[in-house]
Amino acid sequence: MSRPGFALPDGLVYLDGNSLGALPHGVAERVADVVRHEWGHGLIRSWNDAGWLHLVRRVADRIAPLLGVEGRDLHLGDSTSVSLFKLLVAAARLRPERRVLVVEPTTFPTDGYVAAGVADLLGLELRWCDPADPLAAVDDDVAVLCLTHVDFRTGAMFDLPGITAAARERGALVLWDLCHSAGAVPVDLEAAGADLAVGCTYKYLNGGPGSPAYLWVAPRHQEAARQPVTGWFGHATPFAMARDYVPRPGVGSFASGTPPVLALSALEVALEAFEGVEVAELRRRSLGLTDRFVAGLDRLGLEVATPRDHARRGSQVSVRHERAYGLVQALIARDVVGDFRDPDIARFGFAPLYNTADDVDVALERLALVLEHGEHLDPAYDERNAVT
Ligand SMILES: *Cc1c(COP(=O)(O)O)cnc(C)c1O
Repeated sequence: MSRPGFALPDGLVYLDGNSLGALPHGVAERVADVVRHEWGHGLIRSWNDAGWLHLVRRVADRIAPLLGVEGRDLHLGDSTSVSLFKLLVAAARLRPERRVLVVEPTTFPTDGYVAAGVADLLGLELRWCDPADPLAAVDDDVAVLCLTHVDFRTGAMFDLPGITAAARERGALVLWDLCHSAGAVPVDLEAAGADLAVGCTYKYLNGGPGSPAYLWVAPRHQEAARQPVTGWFGHATPFAMARDYVPRPGVGSFASGTPPVLALSALEVALEAFEGVEVAELRRRSLGLTDRFVAGLDRLGLEVATPRDHARRGSQVSVRHERAYGLVQALIARDVVGDFRDPDIARFGFAPLYNTADDVDVALERLALVLEHGEHLDPAYDERNAVT
């Protein structure tokens, strides 16, 4: 199978698209063009002439179908962490009589750190829930339950519609972090009656390192939702330079400062790779790849930490191994790139846009060789790099 549309080094098996997506064709050329022509020649005129002011909305329209939402209800511009901050504050303000934020303790740490910061700022309680049963922590005091749809360590997936409905019955909002979902796993926020969502664009969406996150606010919450970083780009009339803040209607009020034009330009082109591809087809491919990899791991006698049940599996497969770091490093030395997550997880992400059955087979062959020769036991791997 080929990998149309992506510039991947020859011979490299890249199974880390859940950390940093591969480089789509056309991005390098587009960024060079924006820099040379739109910035270099157009200068300030490009805000109007090159459509920079509408870039956020154009990108939002491309991401929307992957989330089951409308582009006009999405905003992009900040990191996931900052977007989480804005949404958590807004959520708490939408439920002023409730005093508790609930977070799942094994989630990607930034979610917990940001929630702790918001709790501190607003004088709320941060409550950790049981990962096996997050709803058990949701009582009448809970303003918002913040959950990551697909777990970054194990690849386990929550039942988004089920949890959303149950939390709503208890009067709590749910904020879904879709960093490990969008672009690889079907998400239908509107059909689920979801409240709020956030996600990054540099993993399965291939926007490039540090590309801006998206945030989504359900239309029914937009009028009342108030985010804390009330900057001029969230103002109803930014160029009127008025003294007093008046929020833009809709999700546009979640903007704060000048949009990152270069990063958004790269992302806009990167998202072309999703054009004409149904999310259901991506899911079918993804499950085919992860099933194939899991079967190979079973043959090698390795412990699979990812759920086997399709309904509970994202688009990655994790191996639990006491020498997981060495395993990942030895594979990288053999041109198979996965990553390590503390304490004992070797993680392999399958990006259905560009990973192939061939990638799976080559990765398994090289993994077998690593284990056979004990390459993962090399004492050189006792010390870890800064980025694992
Ligand atoms: C990757 C990831 C993030 C990243 O946050 P940034 O602020 O964009 O660096 C946040 N949450 C989850 C669940 C992630 O997987």
